[in-house]
Amino acid sequence: MAFVSMTHLLKDAEKNGYAVGQFNINGLIWAQAILRTAERLKSPVIIASSDRIVDYLGGFKTIAQMVDALMKEMNITIPVVLHLDHGQTVERCIAAVDAGYSSVMYDGSHLPIEENIRNTKKVADYAHAKFVSVEAEVGSVGGMEDGLVGGIKYADLHECVRLVEETQIDALAAALGSVHGKYQGEPVLGFDEMQAIRAAIDIPLVLHGASGIPLAQLKKAIAYGHAKININTECNLAWRQALQETMEENLEVFEPRALLLPSITAIERVVEEKMTEFGSTNRLAQHVE
Ligand code: 13P
Repeated sequence: MAFVSMTHLLKDAEKNGYAVGQFNINGLIWAQAILRTAERLKSPVIIASSDRIVDYLGGFKTIAQMVDALMKEMNITIPVVLHLDHGQTVERCIAAVDAGYSSVMYDGSHLPIEENIRNTKKVADYAHAKFVSVEAEVGSVGGMEDGLVGGIKYADLHECVRLVEETQIDALAAALGSVHGKYQGEPVLGFDEMQAIRAAIDIPLVLHGASGIPLAQLKKAIAYGHAKININTECNLAWRQALQETMEENLEVFEPRALLLPSITAIERVVEEKMTEFGSTNRLAQHVE
């Protein structure tokens, strides 16, 4: 099955009160773990590469062909979106589309709103002509992602409305207190602002920085229009802990497969837990005609 855009998946999620998980990959084993778990749980899934590590992973074409080949080898039947997370420039979003990604995020959230809208529209026009979905961001998700640190800035309601109306994007990341990486203390999301944004726009919302957000807040965010929830840190923490334990318990072992297998299982466990929490499991019949 080829990659699908996220538009239809997110509409179904929004209509039926669940969210589709975006899981970021940091190498081959993440892609294998995510695909295997999604297939087993009959869950649609969004596999993402963060733009900042695309070159480390071998570039857009390598990533697209790797995930595509894995889907064929693994006989994947669930709908899979291949998504560019935090696309840094218009050109890089276009390169991802040309390489075969079925969805891109252009992140102009650090720019003045006029420039964010202008660039997002260029990406949306190019991507939509190729049936590729587009996400864009207003405000700032705080914390550290792939080595980049930033502060929280709440999304402005009027900027959200303008960005959606003037660019025709498919999903909006409205930053409302979430953080990439580890939270210091209990996360506090701006639910009042979320409700106001939800009421003013008619496309699904995206929750970035969802690792570490308690289930009750995740469920509320889904009820308030979040149909896509992004997870990276929790998979990586589980991967690291399993790898460290395996290495400490097997000081003489140096076969990579033996050392890595438990860490793959650890990623799978997190993906399963998140898909179950988001309510995206057993949705296959809704997506495959
Ligand atoms: P976490 O790192 O908090 O899981 O967030 C992932 C994310 O939002 C990717 O864009």
